[in-house]
Amino acid sequence: MRCVTYSRNVFLPVTNLCRNHCGYCSFRRDAGSARLIHRHEAYRLLARAAETGCSEALFSLGEAPWEVPGFQKLLAEADVSDLQDYLAELCELALELGLLPHTNAGILDDDALNLLKPYNASMGLMLETTATVAAHADSPGKSPATRLDYIARAGRLKIPFTTGLLIGIGESWTNRREALEAIRNLHRSYDHIQEVIIQPLDPKAGTPLAEAKRPSAEELCAVVKMAKAILPDDVAIQIPPNLTDPKPLLDAGANDLGGLSPVTSDWINPGRPWPELEALADEFDGPNGYSLQERLPVYPKFIKLGWHGTKTRDLVAALADESGLVVKKYIC
Ligand code: SF4
Repeated sequence: MRCVTYSRNVFLPVTNLCRNHCGYCSFRRDAGSARLIHRHEAYRLLARAAETGCSEALFSLGEAPWEVPGFQKLLAEADVSDLQDYLAELCELALELGLLPHTNAGILDDDALNLLKPYNASMGLMLETTATVAAHADSPGKSPATRLDYIARAGRLKIPFTTGLLIGIGESWTNRREALEAIRNLHRSYDHIQEVIIQPLDPKAGTPLAEAKRPSAEELCAVVKMAKAILPDDVAIQIPPNLTDPKPLLDAGANDLGGLSPVTSDWINPGRPWPELEALADEFDGPNGYSLQERLPVYPKFIKLGWHGTKTRDLVAALADESGLVVKKYIC
C-alpha cells in the first residue's frame, strides 16, 4: 500500500489586497473593496476548525498589500497597527486553540520571516514558473528571480517549505522542467523543501485567462512524472483534489492531497469545493492500493530535525505520532 497524505486545515484569507495583478486571479481586490480579516472572524474560524479536528491553520494573503494605496485605512478599520505583527498575533491565537500555522504571505523581507518563523510549523510560496509569462506582466512579485531568492532565504533560515508550479499559464514544457530543476537545486542547497504542488490553472470568468485551456489529466500526469524524475524522493508531490481527479495523478507518482478543509472553502478557487474526506477515504484508503493518512503541516522529516517553529514544538509533540503523522485518524 502506498501512503497518500493530506492535512485537515482551515483556510484564513487574511487580506485580498495585493500589489500584483495576475491574469488568472479572482481573489485579489482593489483597496475600495478589499478586506482584512478581523480578530473575531479569525477566532470564529479557528475555534470551529479546532472543534472539527483540524490541525493546520493556513494563513494566506495578497502580496505586499502595504504597497497599495488604501492599505493603512484597511488596517485602521480592523484596529491593526502592523500587518506582520498581526500575522504573528493570529498565528499565536491558532496555536492557543490547538492549530499549527502555515503562512503563505507572498514575498517577505528577512525581518518578517524571522518574526513569523517561530510561530509557523512551515511556510510556503508558489514559485509557479521560472518563465516570463504575459499573465504576470503586471505582477512585480512574480519575478522568478525574486521568488527563487525568497525560497532560498527561507532555506537559509531552515524553514520547512512548500512551493509549487502553476500549470497552464503560458509556460512551455521546457519552462516546467526548468522550474522543477530550480526547486531541486534549492533543495540541494538548503534541504528545506517538503512538498511541491502541481496545481492546474482553474480559468475564472472575468479574468484575462478566462478562456485559457484547462490542463488535461494527461498533461498533469506528465508533469507529475517529470516532477518525480527531477525531485528528490524526500520531497512530496502534492496535487489538489478539488481541481483535478486525483486518481490518475496518484498513479503517476503524486503522494499528497494537500490541505482539505471541513470549515472553509478554497478562497483562491472558490467554485471548486474540497472533496469530502469520507469519499476520499472510500476511494483511496485501501481499495486502490493506497493508505490515506493525515499529516501535520510540517512533514515528519522536519519534525525529526526540529526545524518547525520553536513556539509550535509542544503542539507538534502532542499531535504527532512516533512516525511524525497525526496521532488520530481522520474524523469524517
Ligand atoms: S494570484 Fe496571488 S499574487 Fe497574484 S494577484 Fe492574486 S493574490 Fe495577488
